[in-house]
Amino acid sequence: MANEAQQFDLTVIGAGPGGYVAAIRAAQLGARVAIVEKQYIGGTCLNVGCIPSKALLHIAQLYAEMGELGKLGIMLNQPPTFDMSVAVAFKDKVVKQLTGGVAQLLKANKVAIFDGTAEALAPDQVRVTLKDGSTQELRTGKLILANGSVPIRPPFSGLDGKNVIFSDDAMNMPRAPKSLVCIGGGVIAVELACMFNALGTKVTIVEMLPSLIANEDEEVVTALTRSLTKRGVEIALGARVESIADAGDLKRVTATTESGQQTFDGEYVLVAVGRKANPTGLDGLLAAGLAMDRGRVVANERLETNLPNVYAIGDLVGRTWLAHVAMVEGELAAEIALGHEAQMDYNIVPRPIFTFPEIASVGLTERQARERGGNVRADKFPWVANGKALATGETEGFTKVIIGDYGEILGAAIYGPDATNLITEFSLAMRGELTADEVIATIHPHPTYSEALREATLAAEGRAIHIFQRQAAAARQS
Ligand SMILES: Cc1cc2nc3c(=O)[nH]c(=O)nc-3n(C[C@H](O)[C@H](O)[C@H](O)COP(=O)(O)OP(=O)(O)OC[C@H]3O[C@@H](n4cnc5c(N)ncnc54)[C@H](O)[C@@H]3O)c2cc1C
Repeated sequence: MANEAQQFDLTVIGAGPGGYVAAIRAAQLGARVAIVEKQYIGGTCLNVGCIPSKALLHIAQLYAEMGELGKLGIMLNQPPTFDMSVAVAFKDKVVKQLTGGVAQLLKANKVAIFDGTAEALAPDQVRVTLKDGSTQELRTGKLILANGSVPIRPPFSGLDGKNVIFSDDAMNMPRAPKSLVCIGGGVIAVELACMFNALGTKVTIVEMLPSLIANEDEEVVTALTRSLTKRGVEIALGARVESIADAGDLKRVTATTESGQQTFDGEYVLVAVGRKANPTGLDGLLAAGLAMDRGRVVANERLETNLPNVYAIGDLVGRTWLAHVAMVEGELAAEIALGHEAQMDYNIVPRPIFTFPEIASVGLTERQARERGGNVRADKFPWVANGKALATGETEGFTKVIIGDYGEILGAAIYGPDATNLITEFSLAMRGELTADEVIATIHPHPTYSEALREATLAAEGRAIHIFQRQAAAARQS
């Protein structure tokens, strides 16, 4: 049954972090707004991505740290045990609170929520198939596409077998597996590998490329790889997986490596080889000529597609695959669609990775900066020389700063405690075009992790106080 068409100024397809933010911002600007969501408000991020994974990672880290408490004089009378069903229930509560909050915000902003699947028939026309099977036509002035992404299903056999899971399933495990082969060594894979390792699972990572989290700072990746290995995670690099099969009670992953075929056995296999854009429901726009590139919708820095009045944001465009970028794109797309001047700046995007310890970087890596040329200075300050890190036992890793010709911060990488929060200092410094001298002139509170950021900036200029920089001292004397 079709309901009478409804008219809106702006319609958003998808209520993930990109879509719901776009809807709220458009409503704030006075537009009559509709949002269509087929599965869950909050999208991947709030339901099966950022938030649930961080809730479970937090629990896993606490559990792993229990074993260390004796060193601090805290004696547990018996070894801690872990109940996954309680952890998953906690995670579900967090997800419910957050998604419920977003639904309330949409309603408070008078956004019309359509609980169904959208088909964009034309730039100004969307058909929604509602959950009860009826359809609703929407007429719209502007259209924002925020359909997000889905996990990639690589083309090898055995993907549908028992105990073969994707990241969505990893959020709802009945228990921690005894052993797990993780196919993929990207961001999601290493986060989940850390989580299961902390819960006592024997983890093996099988990655096709020659390093984990390719494109990140090489020294950070080396330090993480060493740290995972020390914690018992097996890592096979340069291993191209061909199949997953049963091997008795276990699963067997077969891969081709430089030295021939290799097999990896585990109770479970986690397939985490990346995500791809999800342009479902866009056939009408594709027929109208919507430009696509490698399966993603093409949008410029004003989030405009090649079709008039149609904008695209978030994982559907797939510039960064990060929720915080999707949110800013959502805000800006709404503003631009409603006639405001704005433009995305993708040069200063913080890249958080929630491993143990955390990784966060922004701007250029040292290699990228050196390839660009000029008088690049870069150096590291280790956490072991930071008082707060020593006091809290978080001494693994370092902070690295990369400085350019005029003292500008070209990039930074933090591998250590609270890295994902601390990186904002460098993002802000870069955004405000502050120089290294200005970071150094800023008094940082003591004793805090933030002091390491200032010291790393000093180190890059060859004048760290709390470590002795032999080469810099020699250069000063010559
Ligand atoms: C395990 C995991 C951990 C992650 N951790 C982080 C992290 O720590 N930090 C970070 O920044 N990013 C993280 N991400 C990535 C992050 O989740 C995504 O970048 C983000 O969700 C993208 O937002 P989006 O709005 O573009 O799309 P999505 O969140 O995918 O939302 C798209 C929505 O559109 C809906 N939809 C699609 N088609 C239609 C249709 N035709 N009709 C109606 N509705 C439709 C979908 O149901 C979905 O709800 C993680 C991802 C995963 C999988």
